[in-house]
Amino acid sequence: MTCNDIRKLLDDFVDGNLPAEEAARVRAHVDGCAECARELVALESLRAATAALPNEIDPDTDLWQNIATEIASTKVTPMRRPSLWLRGAMVAAAAALVVVGAREWRMRTHSTGWEVTRIAGAPVIESRGVQENATLRQGEWLRTDENSSARVDVANIGRVTVGPESAVRLKGSSDKEHRIELARGEMEAFIWAPPRLFFVDTPSGVAEDLGCRYNLAVDEDGNGALDVTLGFVSFERDGREVIVPAGARCELRAGKGPGTPHESGASRELQEALDRVDVEGATPENVTAVLHASSSTDGVTLWHLIPRVDENLRGEVVDALAARVPLPKETSRDGVIALDTRMLERWWDAMYPSWSHWN
Ligand SMILES: [Zn+2]
Repeated sequence: MTCNDIRKLLDDFVDGNLPAEEAARVRAHVDGCAECARELVALESLRAATAALPNEIDPDTDLWQNIATEIASTKVTPMRRPSLWLRGAMVAAAAALVVVGAREWRMRTHSTGWEVTRIAGAPVIESRGVQENATLRQGEWLRTDENSSARVDVANIGRVTVGPESAVRLKGSSDKEHRIELARGEMEAFIWAPPRLFFVDTPSGVAEDLGCRYNLAVDEDGNGALDVTLGFVSFERDGREVIVPAGARCELRAGKGPGTPHESGASRELQEALDRVDVEGATPENVTAVLHASSSTDGVTLWHLIPRVDENLRGEVVDALAARVPLPKETSRDGVIALDTRMLERWWDAMYPSWSHWN
């Protein structure tokens, strides 16, 4: 049987609907074919996820099949973006998942270690080579060289794809939180649990999953970047937090924390102006340069800038954002300038209507 033949049978295989002989042939093929094995694991993970859904919000099977196929075909390339269609479909599906609630998930998670599957090359857990599958236990490091990559199943709440030249450690996995450390390299996380269960420690702060897909990179000096492709991710250091929505990016600086988020497609001019704000400070000159370089799609940047600039400059930033995203009801210019938390949140909701699904 070819890979294509196998793929057609995977659905029934996972559901246990194949005659024993056929199931054995699928199993034999999958044991020897990394590509089909990845597809099978993706499908099983998603079935486990859908099993937790109340029936009335169970997304239709085709949707899950499509998502599974997309995940299985995901390459270990930072910055890879799902198609627009897929992003829409996944948001809908993930939003449905979030409805399940944390409690249900916690009952289903376990802490005996996470399964690691070799994708390419020779990943190593401590000093043990990962042939096909292995278990990553608490405290252990998973390392890849320039030619290797691996997938990690995060309990039953998601998966992390670890790219080349990376070092990832499992710090803890319990019903309340799952935490890894990315010391260097790159990883993509796809988490289908409710928000705030999955954390990644980095040299520049902590990424907290708010649902549900992102790339993290850390270079040799501990600097890096966070790119969110679906949902939202919080990044925090020393009490300073940024929220990075899908389609946005945040530079990470070792020992300093997250930079001001910006749209991935933001102009070079805006990115350079933001670098100056983040590194030198929010001086009038630097803030003016950001306002000058920002366009109608840079709301995420302006919103984050509001609390960071001096009061006498804040009005200008508020006005710039209001020209792009009108102030919502029960929100006033003066209130925002006074950093009224509820008003700032309402404005964020107006920019990102899907935010309420995740929080
Ligand atoms: Zn195959």
